[in-house]
Amino acid sequence: MSSGKPLIALSCSTNFGLPWGGFARPQRYDYIVEGYPDCIQAAGGLPIGMTLCDEATTLGVIDRVDGLILTGGIDIAPVLYGQEMKPGLGEVLYDHDLMEIAAARAAAEKGIPILGVCRGIQLLAVAFGGKLIQDIPSEVKNAINHSQSADKHVLSHKVRLEPGTRLAGIIGAEEIWVNSKHHQAVAEPPEGFLATAHSSDGLIEAMEHPESDFLIGVQWHPEGNCALEESSRRIFEAFVGACSPAA
Ligand code: MN
Repeated sequence: MSSGKPLIALSCSTNFGLPWGGFARPQRYDYIVEGYPDCIQAAGGLPIGMTLCDEATTLGVIDRVDGLILTGGIDIAPVLYGQEMKPGLGEVLYDHDLMEIAAARAAAEKGIPILGVCRGIQLLAVAFGGKLIQDIPSEVKNAINHSQSADKHVLSHKVRLEPGTRLAGIIGAEEIWVNSKHHQAVAEPPEGFLATAHSSDGLIEAMEHPESDFLIGVQWHPEGNCALEESSRRIFEAFVGACSPAA
């Protein structure tokens, strides 16, 4: 029996090490950082974690859920957008990139809402044919600091929203303050996507696909402060509200 609440898949991050005591050797573990489940629940959805697995399994998960959140994480392999690795590139996990690209394409094809957060907006860009800045500090002159070491509830910089876009309508403001924990960014949105927010140094901070019901990426972390910031709460409410539970 359906609970009437939409089921939202969260793409897990993957790490290798000792997740807690009692292991004799390092383990692979898949995890969701705090914030995402609470924000989805507060907005009326049911969060579940989507672990790193083969493509058929990933597609099976997407087939059963009502929405997808591509969460934050490490860098994306530049070969996936046709670039050689530059010196400022950080850690990548290629299998994870492939899994999330398959998930994003399948979710878009199915027409279920997708919210990309931080790495998630970058993943959307790569999955649909866009390009990334591999490392802001070494590639963008006069960039502000986008890699705050402060916790995610601390606001870092302002972004200006493009009037008339879906995101501006959801947030209901032309300018907001956001947190910032990224050293990569979208350089070129894919064809069919619009950049919908910029920071004062001109970097793309959000994008959307206007022909889709809800295909939006943000470069900041609304899951880090949805209980404190109106704009973050609105993003989750609009996203979960767009996810219709299967009958
Ligand atoms: Mn930023």
